[in-house]
Amino acid sequence: MARRPSIEHLPAELARAARAVAEGLRLGGRRAWLVGGAVRDLALGVAPHDADLASAALPEELERLFPRTYAVGKAFGTVVVHCEGLAVQVTTFRAESGYDDARRPSHVRFANSLEEDAERRDFTCNALYLDPLTDELRDPTGGLADLEHGRLRCVGDAALRFTEDGLRLLRLARLAAQYGLEIEPGTASAARSALEALRGVSPERVLAELERMAAGRAPARSLAILLELGVLPRLAGLGALAGPEVGQRVAVLERLAPGGTRRFFATLLWAPQAADEQQALQVLGALRPPRALLEGVPRVWNAVRELEGCLQALGGPAVPRSRWMRLARAAEFEDAWAAWRAWQPGSFEREAAELRARIGALAPEDLRPAPLVTSRELASSGIPRGPRWAQLLRAAEDAQLDGELRTREDALAWLARQLSA
Ligand code: ATP
Ligand code: MG
Repeated sequence: MARRPSIEHLPAELARAARAVAEGLRLGGRRAWLVGGAVRDLALGVAPHDADLASAALPEELERLFPRTYAVGKAFGTVVVHCEGLAVQVTTFRAESGYDDARRPSHVRFANSLEEDAERRDFTCNALYLDPLTDELRDPTGGLADLEHGRLRCVGDAALRFTEDGLRLLRLARLAAQYGLEIEPGTASAARSALEALRGVSPERVLAELERMAAGRAPARSLAILLELGVLPRLAGLGALAGPEVGQRVAVLERLAPGGTRRFFATLLWAPQAADEQQALQVLGALRPPRALLEGVPRVWNAVRELEGCLQALGGPAVPRSRWMRLARAAEFEDAWAAWRAWQPGSFEREAAELRARIGALAPEDLRPAPLVTSRELASSGIPRGPRWAQLLRAAEDAQLDGELRTREDALAWLARQLSA
């Protein structure tokens, strides 16, 4: 399942950038090596999404060699070099342990050799080095052989590596899932015994890794592996969540149509009993998510409940058009739909198909018609400004969506009725 990685298979843009930076370093008497995800992806026949380089050159050297650099983490040896319109991350060979916050090692010692740099990397397949100028491959930890056997293995003593940085437990699951790799038995048993290391990982790093899983090719499989390893219940209190147990939640994710982080968390943390929502939100909050996510997930839940309500109502007496149209135009609608389908496969089939058909028959301007009643009409009709305005604007829009107000005359007559009400 793996082949010898070659620069030839790197997307042209990335190859050009990597070569340009490597050439600049060569003129300064240094070699540069493509390393990490890019070389792993080349070996697996997947197109790399970025090109990170490693080199013995110190950050100051890079700043001297290249006119345009940006020190992202200079203390950790990472400098972004701008070359031919592209940005390439160059990291100085280093030897270190102990990570604390957002993917930054807590202390760093620069290393002299590539071999030493390889020792600090997490998995053997992430410790492959490829020279972008000569295509020479260095594989000090046997990463290519592991990939050939479809195997994911820690560099060095697995137990130690997970204790050093508990985030590697999550990276293990993500990479195994993403590439369909088997976790080497020694690595797997070390992972199961290293669960305590999760305590030392900041919520921000955990969230970032979960987001990478959610955006990746195998979100449900990633979580299934985390579950198998015993990691999942320990994340942010997931194991103590009321309602369906964590294994069932993972099974539901298998049915979730792909669609980003908000949908992923809304589905994973869904509370069938509305009373349990607060607790589910606390689990999300413990990961210290950005506000957009923390506020977006409960909005998806509201939309799921509204969707259920609409579908139930579709079976009975007429549902006002305004009700399902408001739902359909909500920004969370598609996420709510996907979450609901994942949790309730096969329920309300007929109603769901009908709702889809109704929505599909509408043009965008049907969902968001230009309002016939605005604050201007309210002002000129003489209704005193106040909280009632918002209610009237909403009621007028409902009437418009329901097809009761079609013209300006309808709107003025409607306003006159409100005034006398
Ligand atoms: P992706 O393709 O998803 O970006 P990646 O392996 O490139 O995967 P990065 O987070 O970009 O992941 O890390 C780049 C490289 O840095 C890894 O391939 C690995 O060699 C090393 N690395 C990253 N995180 C760790 C860690 N927590 N411990 C040890 N090495 C790490
Ligand atoms: Mg990467």
